[in-house]
Amino acid sequence: MIEKERTLKNLGSGWHSLIETVYAIQDQLSFSGGLYVIERKNGMLSVLFSRKDLTSPEQEFILNSVEYRIERLSAKICEGCGQYGLRRTELPTTQTLCTKCYAFKYSEIVTPQNEE
Ligand SMILES: [Zn+2]
Repeated sequence: MIEKERTLKNLGSGWHSLIETVYAIQDQLSFSGGLYVIERKNGMLSVLFSRKDLTSPEQEFILNSVEYRIERLSAKICEGCGQYGLRRTELPTTQTLCTKCYAFKYSEIVTPQNEE
C-alpha cells in the first residue's frame, strides 16, 4: 500500500484531485489488495492495483477499466495546475502540462544553456 501523502508530494498539485479519486476508489474495491503502483509514466498517471486476492475475471476487468480510465483522464489534466493539458514529449521527462506550465517548464530547461 502506498501512502497517499507521499504520492501527493511526489506528483504535481494539478493531479491531486485525481489522486484523491484513486485513493477513494481503492477504499471501495474490497476485492483488491490495494494500490501497488501510482506514478508518472510516459507523462500520465499510472496506477496498478494488486490482483493477488482476486476471485473472478470480472474483478480483473474492473481493475483494468479503472487503471485505464485514470491514465486517460491524466493525459488531459495539467500536472502543474489542473487545467486542460497535453503530453509534452519534448521535455526531458514527459509530462502532461497546459500551455502556460509547459512554457514555464521549458524556459527553466533552456535558460541555463543560453548563458554563455
Ligand atoms: Zn498548467
